Amino acid sequence: MSTPVLKPVRTRFAPSPTGYLHVGGARTALYCWAFARRYGGKFILRIEDTDVERSTPEAVQAILDGMQWLGLTPDEGPFYQMRRMDRYREVIAAMLQSGTAYHCYCTPQQLDAMREEQRARGAKPRYDGRWRPENVKATGLEPPPGLQPVVRFRNPDSGFVTWDDGVKGRISISNEELDDLIIARTDGTPTYNFCVVVDDMDMQISNVIRGDDHINNTPRQINILKALGAEVPAYAHLPMIHGPDGEKLSKRHGAVSVMQYHSDGYLPQALLNYLARLGWSHGNDEIFSMQQLQEWFSLEHCSKSAAQFDFEKLKWLNNHYLRQLTAQELANMVAPRVREEGFSVAQGPELATVCELLKDRAQTLNELAESIAMFYMDPPDASEALKEQLSPPVRAALTALMTSLPADWSAAALALALKGVLSASGLKMPQIAMPLRLMLMGRTDTPSIDKVMAVLGRECVTRRLASHLTAR
Ligand code: GLU
Repeated sequence: MSTPVLKPVRTRFAPSPTGYLHVGGARTALYCWAFARRYGGKFILRIEDTDVERSTPEAVQAILDGMQWLGLTPDEGPFYQMRRMDRYREVIAAMLQSGTAYHCYCTPQQLDAMREEQRARGAKPRYDGRWRPENVKATGLEPPPGLQPVVRFRNPDSGFVTWDDGVKGRISISNEELDDLIIARTDGTPTYNFCVVVDDMDMQISNVIRGDDHINNTPRQINILKALGAEVPAYAHLPMIHGPDGEKLSKRHGAVSVMQYHSDGYLPQALLNYLARLGWSHGNDEIFSMQQLQEWFSLEHCSKSAAQFDFEKLKWLNNHYLRQLTAQELANMVAPRVREEGFSVAQGPELATVCELLKDRAQTLNELAESIAMFYMDPPDASEALKEQLSPPVRAALTALMTSLPADWSAAALALALKGVLSASGLKMPQIAMPLRLMLMGRTDTPSIDKVMAVLGRECVTRRLASHLTAR
C-alpha cells in the first residue's frame, strides 16, 4: 500500500468547473482534505479551467461556494490553470529542446488513414511515431509548408508503467499500449494531461487522490513526470458514486450539486459525515466529527468498489445533526427559509419555542420550515379527513374540551384537561387526539397534542377548534 511518503504531504483537489460542485467532487475534496490533515500536510485547490466554454466565472464560483459551504478551506490556492499558460509553454519548449517531445505535422486526414490501415491489417490503431526525430531522419520527411505542428510527448517504447494505487492496489500498464500523447495543439495551447502533470510537479503534490475515471490518464502522466525528472506522486483512485439504482450518480437521481443540498435544507456537517462514510469506513462508526475524520482517515479503509448513494441515510444523519443544535441556533437557521415560504413569525409563539417542539421530527430545515408554518398560518383544510373522525361522541367530547380549557396554559394542564374529557366520554386518546391534530395542524404527524396546544396558544387553539366545531 502506498501509505504516505516521507516527504511533506501535499494533496490537491483539481475540479474542472462544470456549473456546480458535484457530490462526487465534494467527496474527493473531502478525502484530499482529510488525508492532508491526518498527515500534517497541505490541501491545495486548483481550478482546471482550460475548457473555456464550460469554465465560466459562474461555474468557477459554484465550486468555490460549494467548498466554502462545506468548510473545506484550502491551505493554498485556488490556482487557475488559465493563468499558468506561460509556464506550460516554457516546459514544452524545454521538452522539445531535450528531445522528450517533438513536432508532429500529421493532418487529421492522415491520422484517419493511419488508423484505417492499422485496422485493416488487424493491428491496434495508434500513432505510428512517423514524426519522431529519428524516423524523420531515416525517412527524410519534410515539414509541409504552412502547416502548424502539434507537439507530442515521446512515450517510452517498451516496459511497463507500474504504481501501487492507494485504493486499487498495484496497477501495471504496458508502454506498448500508450502512444505519443499530444501535449500542445496546433495553436500552441497545452492539453489537459500535460497541464495536470506540470501543476502536480510545480505544486509538489505528494498524493494524488481522485476519481477512478482518471485511471487511464495516470500511466501517461507518470511517464511525462519521469521525462521531466520530477518525483512521481503516490496515486489513489476512488471508485465512482452510483445512484440507488446502481447507475452512475447523475441529475436524474435528484440533487447532485452540493449547493442543492444546501437549498434543500441539509446541514454541511451531515453531508460531510455522509460523504466521508460513502466509500470509507472506520469500524462500525456511522457518526463522527470532522475532528475524528482527520484523526482516522486512511486510504487503506477506502472501498475498492463503487458506492451507492442512499438518500434515506443522508436524511437520517441530517436529522441527527439538526437535533444537536439548540432551539435558538435552529431558529436562526430556519428564519430565512421561513421568509422564503412567505409567512411571518412576528405574531404568535417564539420561533425558538416552535423549533424546540419540532426539531426531533424534521429531517431537513425545509421540512422544519414547512411544519413551522402551521403555527403561524391557517393549516391546510382537513375537513375531508375530519368527516370520518368527527362522530357525534367525538364532536361532543371536543366541544366539552373547548369549555374546559385550563386557565393555566401549560402542556401539563392541557394534558389533564384532555384526560378529563376522555374519562367523561369513555373515548380513547387517539379518538380525540387525531381529529385535534387535524383541526389544529391540518395533519396527523405532529408532536404530542398537549405540547402543540401549549405552543400554539389559547387564542389560536380556540379559534381553530371553533372553526370546525361550531355552526356546522
Ligand atoms: N479536473 C479533473 C476533474 O475535474 C480532475 C483532475 C485530477 O484530479 O487529476 O475531473
